[in-house]
Order: sequence, then C-alpha cells, then structure tokens
Amino acid sequence: AKDEGGGEHFAYEPSLHASAEERRKLEFSLRRALERNEMSLNFQPVVDAHEETIVSFEALLRWNSQEHGFVPPDKFIPLAEDTRLIVPIGTWVLEQACLEATRWPRHVRIAVNVSGEQLIEPEFAASVIRALSQSGLEASRLEIEVTESIFLRDANIARAALEQVIALGCTVALDDFGTGYSSLGYLRKLSFSTIKVDRSFVQGAAQNSAESLAIIRAVVAMADSLEMTTTAEGVENAEEAELIRKLGCTKIQGYYFGRPMPAVEALSLFEDGGRL
Ligand code: C2E
Ligand code: CA
Ligand code: CA
Ligand code: CA
Repeated sequence: AKDEGGGEHFAYEPSLHASAEERRKLEFSLRRALERNEMSLNFQPVVDAHEETIVSFEALLRWNSQEHGFVPPDKFIPLAEDTRLIVPIGTWVLEQACLEATRWPRHVRIAVNVSGEQLIEPEFAASVIRALSQSGLEASRLEIEVTESIFLRDANIARAALEQVIALGCTVALDDFGTGYSSLGYLRKLSFSTIKVDRSFVQGAAQNSAESLAIIRAVVAMADSLEMTTTAEGVENAEEAELIRKLGCTKIQGYYFGRPMPAVEALSLFEDGGRL
C-alpha cells in the first residue's frame, strides 16, 4: 500500500486505507490460523429429495481467530486464495473431512470445496490420495466441489487435476451453477456427477420467478440426460422443499434440513438411523 509521499495528488480515502490495513492484519492472523488450531469444519447435511434421508455432508470451513473473532468464509477464503494460503488450508480441510467421514455409515458421502488455486497445484492429486489413505476412506465416498471459475484460468491444468481424482474413484460436483459465466459450455469439459443449483434460483422459484423456474427445469432436464444428479442449495422451508422436489431435483441442501453443524452433532444424526 502506498502510505506516504505524493498523497496530496489524490483525495485521501480513509475507508480504502482502513480496509488495506485490515486485510494486512487478517493475513497476518490467517498465516498462523492452522498452527494455532483456529480452524474447524462444520458439516451440512444433503438429503435425498424424496426419501429425505442423509446422502452426504458438505464440509464448510470455520475460522475463529484470536485477534478477529469469528471471520466468515466469504471474507477469509478470497484472502486465502490471493495469498495461496488456501493450499495448506485446503489440504488440512481434505484430511479432516475424510477422517470425519469414516465415522459415518458407509453410504454417506463427504463433499469438500476446492479452490482453483488449490486445484492447479502439482501436488493436488497427491494430497487427495494422502487424505484418503491416511483416513482409510474409500475414494467413492469423496466428492470434490468446484465452481466454474476454475475454467477461467489454467483450464487444462484444472481439468487434468480433476480427471486424476475421478480416476481414483472420486466424483466432482459443479457448485453455484448458474451464477458464473457461460455456464453450459463447462459441462462438456468434464464428467461432473452433480450440478449444484445456486440458492438464488431456489429463492427465485419460490417467489414465482418464471425465469428461475425455467432455469431449474432446464438444468434438471439436462442433468437427467447427461446422467448427472442435481442438488438444490439453500432450501429454507417446507414450501421450497416441496417445490424443488416437484421440479425434479435429486438432492436438497439447506437450513430446512439442517444447518452446517459441528462434527459431533453431525455424527449424532445417525443415532436414529439417518432420518432428519
Ligand atoms: P458454498 O460452497 O456455496 O457453500 C454453501 C453456503 O451456503 C455455506 O455458507 C452455507 O452455510 C450456506 N447455506 C447452506 N444452506 C443455506 C440456507 O438454507 N440458506 C442460506 N442463506 N445459506 C445457506 P458458508 O459456510 O458461509 O460458506 C461460504 C462459502 O465459502 C462456500 O459457499 C464456499 O464457496 C466457501 N468455503 C467454505 N468452506 C470452504 C473450504 O473448505 N474450502 C474452500 N475453498 N471454500 C470454502
Ligand atoms: Ca460448495
Ligand atoms: Ca454452492
Ligand atoms: Ca458459493
């Protein structure tokens, strides 16, 4: 940051200055977060749209910082990506998530978010193999979630990395579908097993937006013909769940069926056989 000298040519912007300073502090703390044990994972259930039984959990990273308190992922993940801290953090997430999943019934899978920066590391596939072998989790129980943004840069490297983990037996989900760029084209680039329909469409559909309804119908039809499943994200109430089921989505995720929760709570859901 340009802090001193020549400043008189520009209007002083205290808010910009403050955010650069805040970012510097946040980065300082983020560098120490793993060794200080400040990171943890929450797990959010994904249910079968018809049976309403748990089919998987998505691992969601949480950071409780000594200096900054609870920092939301939308704030620290982009910073972790910019600084490449997402690489060691992402490796830790993979290992913890796989380990936790070994405590659940065999049919329940784990989904882990992976950033583009992490994916294009030459070590990515090796880190997946290590997470699987250390935990003893079957590869078929691990799903990697990526967004369309991975195809914007280094598309070939990203695709090759995902093909490696698919070869291991893992599956790949396309996250936040519809929010990105020229969405449809990306579906041809890789054999995704799941498309996650972004919460904005679920909300739109619930509010009777013809556009959102049409998009969900189109995604479901396309997924069916390509032998992919669909997960509707951000379903918050019974009405939305019913609508999504009618629209033909395969799986549902959202506060209505369960918020992201600590590992012990997730595990306790199986005490009554996995029904929510
Ligand atoms: P995402 O992958 O799209 O994750 C879903 C987000 O929606 C989560 O936010 C979740 O708590 C929230 N959510 C789930 N159900 C509902 C609902 O019914 N209503 C509403 N309003 N929200 C719902 P969260 O946990 O804050 O995570 C935000 C984003 O941070 C994630 O979006 C993902 O992009 C990123 N993220 C989280 N953990 C990781 C990680 O381990 N690695 C990477 N690379 N990114 C992560
Ligand atoms: Ca996700
Ligand atoms: Ca998502
Ligand atoms: Ca998202």
